[in-house]
Amino acid sequence: GYRSRSAYKLQQIDDTADLIAPSDTVIDLGAAPGGWLQVAAERADGGRVVGVDRQRIESIDGVETVRGDLTEESTQAEIAERVGKADLVLSDMAPNMTGEYELDHARSIHLARQALDVARTILTPGGDLVVKAFDGRDLDDLEADIEDEFEYVRTVRPDASRDESSELFLVGKGRMTAPVAVDD
Ligand code: SAM
Repeated sequence: GYRSRSAYKLQQIDDTADLIAPSDTVIDLGAAPGGWLQVAAERADGGRVVGVDRQRIESIDGVETVRGDLTEESTQAEIAERVGKADLVLSDMAPNMTGEYELDHARSIHLARQALDVARTILTPGGDLVVKAFDGRDLDDLEADIEDEFEYVRTVRPDASRDESSELFLVGKGRMTAPVAVDD
C-alpha cells in the first residue's frame, strides 16, 4: 500500500500527462509522508528520486530525502547542489489551511511559485513540471508564467482531489530553456 491517498493523484496525473519514465531524475517538493515518492520510485526505475519536505520523511528504498523549507533560499540552494539536473519537478506542497479561501489560495500560489523557481534552476530542457495550486484569482498569472517557459500547460484535476474542490495541478510540459546558472 501507499503512505498517502495522494499517491493515487500522482498515478492519475502521470497516466494523463505521461511524465515519469524509467531512469528519470525526479524531484518531489512537499513530499512527506511519501506516497508520491513511492509512485515515482516505481515508475522511474533505474533513475533517481529525491524528496524534499520541512517534515521528516520515513526512509523509502532507493529514495533520497532533503529536509528543509522550500521558501528558504538555503533549501533551494541545497537542492541545486545535491540534485544538479532533473527531468521532472513535482510539487504537492500545500499551506497549513486556515479555511479563509483567499489566504489559502494566495499561500498555495506562493508555494507553487517556489516550485517554479526550483524548476528554473534544475529542470533540464524538455523536462516537465507539476505543481499543485488552489483555484482563485492568481491562478491565471501563475499559469501564464509557466506557459512562458514550457511548450504547453495543462490543468489536471484527479478524481482523488474531488472532495478538496479547489485543488488542481498545473502540468508544464517541455521546458524550453536550459537551467539557470547557480551562484554560490
Ligand atoms: N505528496 C505527498 C504524499 O504523497 O505523501 C503529500 C504532500 S502534503 C499534501 C503537503 C506537504 O507539503 C506537507 O508534507 C508539508 O509539510 C509540505 N510543505 C508545505 N509547505 C512547505 C514548505 N514551505 N517547504 C517544504 N515543505 C512544505
